Amino acid sequence: MALMNGAQYIESLRKLDIKVYMFGEKIENFVDHPMIRPSINCVAMTYDLAHEAEYEDLMTAKSSITGKKINRFAHLHQSTDDLRKKVKMQRLLGQKTASCFQRCVGMDAFNAVFSTTFEIDQKYGTKYHENFIKYLTFIQENDFIVDGAMTDPKGDRALSPSQQPDPDMFLRIVEKRADGIVVRGAKAHQTGSINSHEHLIMPTIAMTEADKAYAVSFAIPSDVDGLYMIYGRQSCDTRKMEEGADIDLGNKQFGGQEALVVFDDVFIPNDRIFMCEEWDFAGMLVERFAGYHRQSYGGCKVGVGDVLIGAAAVAADFNGADKASHVKDKLIEMTHLNETLYCCGIACSAEGSPTAAGNYQIDLLLANVCKQNVTRFPYEITRLAEDIAGGLMVTMPSEKDFNSDLKVGSMTIGETCNKYFKGNGKASVENRMRILRFIENMCLGSSAVGYRTESMHGAGSPQAQRIMIARQGNIAHKKELAKKIAGIKE
Ligand code: SF4
Ligand code: FE
Repeated sequence: MALMNGAQYIESLRKLDIKVYMFGEKIENFVDHPMIRPSINCVAMTYDLAHEAEYEDLMTAKSSITGKKINRFAHLHQSTDDLRKKVKMQRLLGQKTASCFQRCVGMDAFNAVFSTTFEIDQKYGTKYHENFIKYLTFIQENDFIVDGAMTDPKGDRALSPSQQPDPDMFLRIVEKRADGIVVRGAKAHQTGSINSHEHLIMPTIAMTEADKAYAVSFAIPSDVDGLYMIYGRQSCDTRKMEEGADIDLGNKQFGGQEALVVFDDVFIPNDRIFMCEEWDFAGMLVERFAGYHRQSYGGCKVGVGDVLIGAAAVAADFNGADKASHVKDKLIEMTHLNETLYCCGIACSAEGSPTAAGNYQIDLLLANVCKQNVTRFPYEITRLAEDIAGGLMVTMPSEKDFNSDLKVGSMTIGETCNKYFKGNGKASVENRMRILRFIENMCLGSSAVGYRTESMHGAGSPQAQRIMIARQGNIAHKKELAKKIAGIKE
């Protein structure tokens, strides 16, 4: 099958019987639901851009399995050049959507599962790598989006999976049959799960032998029996349900998506299993997936940052503050922070190396430094954007007020709003509203899920990166360097 475009992708979702719940009700047509559709439009962009000649080199690649042209989101990285192009593609999509476009979790899972299954097979003589290559070929041929699902609900954080009072706090194998396994549990905060054709499941932490029922990796269609999803609500989300809403949405077209994905005794056939009780490889899979996704943030968040910096500059123009030296300096500071994140994304890619299976992996230390910076800099960029925008971005009346004919005294409500909220006259009041609502959306509204809180917790919370930085930082080597130059002999 040829590469899908955005419209074909959206139509392909309609054919799936994905069980979605929101506000305590089943959603029969999630594709056209006003709260969900912006996140689908965002994924559709990953399909549309693959057809534009200008972006072909970033958005597509030659499959290492079939030799055919595929969407880069389904690619196994073959070089450090591929790793860099991945980051550039993500920056581009952040710039086009100002949101989380969701398709990266699958790409990062493909690359981590590919290399880990190879090493499991080498040790145990299993057939997981063969299973996975067959599976990924199917994904590439159909140009599917896959939710790479790692994070379990985790229950009591002080206890391991097998110690939890409720054994379902981590997804687990509940039955082994001749033809496959049955799994139960859930994956939380799943990016793009409802918009994905398939789910690729991985364990969420390193495990001991006692936890082996939890060391499981497999893939299933998103509409398989026993699988359902509960939509995660976002700040200001019900604005999307208001009739005729436009300006108040800030970003009308695009948005992100997270959901709780529940496995209520789901059967997984043998040929779709990529790990089954090999507990000693759970940590490797987690580390690799997390490493790739921490690299990803040096692309996607930078692209969204580009848009936010641009929006702050437009707001300054409309306020008549664009010549103020402190505003210019704040824009420089935002750019400096944003490009620092990009440097990290590019650096961990350029320093990548081949795995035993042959695909390329990022430099793990640098990828973790990248994500650690992402837990901080978007917050500072946001602070500066709010500083430049001014308080009006959160105190402005609704667009219905701006359009109201209701007469109060000598003017209508609409006339009053338009009189008192004009800026320096270079921009219409409507355009001023638009840019401020857009900044509100990125800093506090539904896109803030992706730009701020997801920058903090997505691909692992800050402490997860600090653990990896401690492991990879090689303090012993640094001590030796110091001792040698200081002339210390022990
Ligand atoms: Fe992709 Fe970024 Fe969203 Fe992760 S947070 S899925 S890297 S856009
Ligand atoms: Fe994410």
